[in-house]
Amino acid sequence: MKNTEKQRSEARFRKLFDDTQAMSIQGYRADGTVVYWNDASEKIYGYSAHEALQQSLYDLIIPHEMRAEVKQAVAWMFEHQQGIPPARLNLKHKNGTTVPVYSSHTVVALPNDEPIMFCMDADMRALEVAEAEVQRLSYYDPLTGLPNRRLILERLEALMRGINGNHALAALLIVDIDNFHSINESLGYSNGDRVLVHCAQALQQVNNPCNDNIARLGKDEFVVLFPCTAPSFDGAATQAEQHATQILERVEERLTLNNQIHQLNACVGITLFRYPGELAGDELIRQADIALKTAKRSNKTSIRFFDPVMESAVKERVQISQALNHAIENNELALALQPQINKQQQLIGFEGLLRWHHPKFPNISPDDFIPIAEADGSIIELGNWVLEKSCELLGQWGTNEARKHLKISINVSSVQFRRGDVVERVKHVIEKTGANPCNLRLELTESITAEDIDFVITQMQSLRRLGVTISLDDFGTGYASLAYLTKLPLDELKIDRAFVRDLDKQGKGALLTETIISLGRSMNLLVIAEGVETQQQFEKLQSLGCDYFQGYLFGKPSTDPEKYFPSPCSLY
Ligand code: C2E
Ligand code: CA
Ligand code: CA
Repeated sequence: MKNTEKQRSEARFRKLFDDTQAMSIQGYRADGTVVYWNDASEKIYGYSAHEALQQSLYDLIIPHEMRAEVKQAVAWMFEHQQGIPPARLNLKHKNGTTVPVYSSHTVVALPNDEPIMFCMDADMRALEVAEAEVQRLSYYDPLTGLPNRRLILERLEALMRGINGNHALAALLIVDIDNFHSINESLGYSNGDRVLVHCAQALQQVNNPCNDNIARLGKDEFVVLFPCTAPSFDGAATQAEQHATQILERVEERLTLNNQIHQLNACVGITLFRYPGELAGDELIRQADIALKTAKRSNKTSIRFFDPVMESAVKERVQISQALNHAIENNELALALQPQINKQQQLIGFEGLLRWHHPKFPNISPDDFIPIAEADGSIIELGNWVLEKSCELLGQWGTNEARKHLKISINVSSVQFRRGDVVERVKHVIEKTGANPCNLRLELTESITAEDIDFVITQMQSLRRLGVTISLDDFGTGYASLAYLTKLPLDELKIDRAFVRDLDKQGKGALLTETIISLGRSMNLLVIAEGVETQQQFEKLQSLGCDYFQGYLFGKPSTDPEKYFPSPCSLY
């Protein structure tokens, strides 16, 4: 090689060494003195070339505990004039921190020249960051930052395999923006991107804090995995629909594009599923997608369920709710009375139970329509209606010697308490009807303890001051703590019929019922058992110390209570 050529080649290599960004390259004499230190070495180890040159390798970057070993390896390399295999090492930064590097070394020995050991170290920190970035890119959508299809499929699969150990219902929702392609075409791709980011944010706001459960499936399709708390498909469907409505409200909020206000429209397809389960994640996506396509085709509704049965359940709830709102004005309500008796089998009063006759829902039971009325608020009106009818009867009975001792128990929903005007309402109706307040009993359930307990207690106290008595219904079925229950100012406990049913069984069932009855007695409360259907149950309950009884054995609820007069005993 000619001299100039050699110089040029050397310059080329030196420049390559000097400028290499990601690789620290250092040169050392046999005793470890630094003779070469490129710019990247400063980045990795913190020392500038000026600081490092002529210093010792061992002082600069070799941690104390590695020194003897490194010295041995260096000596070997110089002796044999060759390198050793590359390795991951944890070396030392100027500031004392550890620097993970992948290090290769070799000894370059040219004729008539001092041998030099070159070390080339790649910074593993950068590599780790890069690896994480690769990971992120393969699982997340770069535009919105949301998980992508792959990640949500993995989550679905984990849910199905029961990784979380729960058994429950969940909904998979696919949200799709209407006419997204025309937004892209008319306003340009950057505005299209803004629309997508807007949707992603809307979904995040509605799902907060479960943001991990949202993903962008592709184009303008988003998916939301929504765990339902309701135990039944009906309840879960309602929850999923409410969630979808919230999502649509947010997505359809106005946004400004090109200085103009726009309003998006979107559709949601929903599928409900039980987990753990057999269905694959992409099958669930397919189901939700079918529902979405149906929603897109329909010009009536923007939310659709995959399962037509589920869909009709939700629809029926809506229809029931609408019809209930007109039940009073259409004269569709009736009050059924079911007798309550004492140990001597004398009639002491009735439980007032609501009946609703609607041509479309002929045999609907209160167990089905009361929860809907509680959810949509119409329970307030219905509850007032029951209160008025019952007090009207009490008012009439008050002037009848044979009936004036009879009581009516009515069910009061915790929703009515939440409103805060129960006391005024009861007071007003008692005054209006001339009912004897001592004969009016209000049945509350343990769910009342989920409300503001001090507020509830104050209201109960005011009601009792009016003369009204209070019974705790369905006792034993709720999960309110006993400590809470003992705080409530009560007059009566009503043993749920599930316990009465268990009385027939030997062993545990009867024992639990006994415990519940003695609990009521120890709290100084009257105890009434409901759902008494057999003579054996009646006798057993009597022997356990029950005061009052209600059930088919003594009479079914009837909208014609006259048949229970003058004596219920003639009935059986
Ligand atoms: P509840 O308060 O536990 O009412 C007792 C239910 O048990 C009634 O059902 C009654 O018909 C039924 N029952 C009575 N004796 C027997 C028996 O011996 N065997 C069996 N198997 N059942 C018996 P109903 O009338 O269908 O009412 C269901 C629920 O609806 C009530 O349960 C109550 O929670 C609610 N409800 C009814 N009317 C009203 C109301 O006016 N307001 C409110 N908030 N809820 C009401
Ligand atoms: Ca009741
Ligand atoms: Ca009950």
